[in-house]
Amino acid sequence: MKPTIAVVEDNPDNRMLLQAFLSDDYELTEYEDGVGVLEGLKESVPDLVLLDISLPGIDGVEVLKRIRADARLRSLPVIALTAHAMASDRERLLKAGFDDYVSKPIVDEEILRAAIQQGLARLRKQEEMSTTLAFAAEKR
Ligand code: MN
Repeated sequence: MKPTIAVVEDNPDNRMLLQAFLSDDYELTEYEDGVGVLEGLKESVPDLVLLDISLPGIDGVEVLKRIRADARLRSLPVIALTAHAMASDRERLLKAGFDDYVSKPIVDEEILRAAIQQGLARLRKQEEMSTTLAFAAEKR
C-alpha cells in the first residue's frame, strides 16, 4: 500500500505539479484550503501533510497550530510549502513546529522527496517506539 499524503495548496497548477511528481509513489488527497483539510483530517488521517503557507482563509501556520493542538494529529509529519524562500522564514516555520520546509517553485523533485521520506521515517520511528512502550507496559 502506498503511503498517504494530504496536499493542501490553493494553486491548481501547483497541485497538478505535485500530482505529477508524487502520485506514482503516494496516495494523494487534495485540499484547496485550511478549513477543508481540518475537516478532512476528522475523517481520515494521512501519513504526512504537505501544507502551503499562503492559503485563503486561515493560513498554513494556523492550520499547523490546530494540528499540533489535536492529540490525535499531534505527531503527524507536516512539511511547509512556501514561496517565501527567506532564511528567517525557515527558522520561523521550523520553530512553529513544521517538520521541514520546501520552497516554491519546486524545481528539484529530489528535495521534495527527501523531505517526505524523512517525515515518514520519523513517523515510523515514533510508531515503533510507542508500540515498544505499550508492550513494556503490558509486561510490567
Ligand atoms: Mn498558496
